Amino acid sequence: MSEKNTSQVFEGSVCPLPLKHDEQIIMGHGSGGGMTHRLIRDTFLPYLGSPALREGNDYAGVSLGDPASLHGRIAVSTDAHVISPLFYPGGDIGRLSICGTVNDVAMSGAVPLYLTASFIIEEGLPISTLVRVLESMKEAAAEADVQIIAGDTKVVEKGKADGLFITTTGIGWIPEDVNIAGSMAQPGDAVIISGTLGDHGIAVLAARGGLGLQVEVQSDQAPLNGMIQDCLKVAPHIHVLRDPTRGGLATTLNEIVGQSKVGILLEETSIPVRPEVASVCELLGFDPLYVANEGKVIIILPEEEAQSALDALHNHQYGKNATRIGSVTAKPAGRVLLRTSLGTQRILDVLMGEMLPRIC
Ligand code: MG
Repeated sequence: MSEKNTSQVFEGSVCPLPLKHDEQIIMGHGSGGGMTHRLIRDTFLPYLGSPALREGNDYAGVSLGDPASLHGRIAVSTDAHVISPLFYPGGDIGRLSICGTVNDVAMSGAVPLYLTASFIIEEGLPISTLVRVLESMKEAAAEADVQIIAGDTKVVEKGKADGLFITTTGIGWIPEDVNIAGSMAQPGDAVIISGTLGDHGIAVLAARGGLGLQVEVQSDQAPLNGMIQDCLKVAPHIHVLRDPTRGGLATTLNEIVGQSKVGILLEETSIPVRPEVASVCELLGFDPLYVANEGKVIIILPEEEAQSALDALHNHQYGKNATRIGSVTAKPAGRVLLRTSLGTQRILDVLMGEMLPRIC
């Protein structure tokens, strides 16, 4: 577990102004970007902040025995899923609710074991819709090799929820020799992404209709725990694992440079984006580096293990397009820089405001 016990991820220079109590929640507070960080920093952490929560990882790595011991550590994570629509190309809220939490637990290097699931159902939801979602959850849980061991069901009046919301909590076991956290990136490390960016966000956007988008993009949502375990076998000194979900690659890397107090230099020409995703982004003015993914992982690890990790990724169905996209640098600490195809460099900041709401 990291000793750098700061909430740096929530305290970056991107949101220096304190949130005022006469403001109201707006959709941007759920974006996963700078506004979310500010909300967490100024409301949740002062009241609910524990050392594990302040570390700002996707999971809490805690011990059920001696808190200072690396023995018997577990990873715990929880995630609410409010996606609209409930079904879209490549997935649905059921598969998402399993994969999202399994992946956050797996980002500690843990083996996810158990999930709980809480359902908020809107009056009027067809039973057949619920059954489709449950079938999908069953399939995803089997693929991820996790069991759902507790659950809760609440029904709210029509108009009080958008069909179905699902919250899942995951628990996994962290092997004793694994020590992975957002604060562990070191200058000289390689930065790898396991595949193409923006597929999930654009697939969900296209499924909403209304924009008349005729694109054949599938969500990438997938449980990544098996692929990560394959990587750890050949690259046992991985420093950081994180899935670039809300806020996309750019926001997630900014969280990591804040936690590790390092810089990252990305090579734009190495970043994989499907042509169809790139063209929708161009049409709508989005940057694929800020669009959500649900089946991708950023891996930061010592240079000498980078090729072994890439080989393991390429051998897995969810890592065929894995590629090295950059390096960790000592300076400028706390900044992500992008070397563009023209050879110039620009700063990649966190997502501010809301680009695509209700995508996870
Ligand atoms: Mg995550």
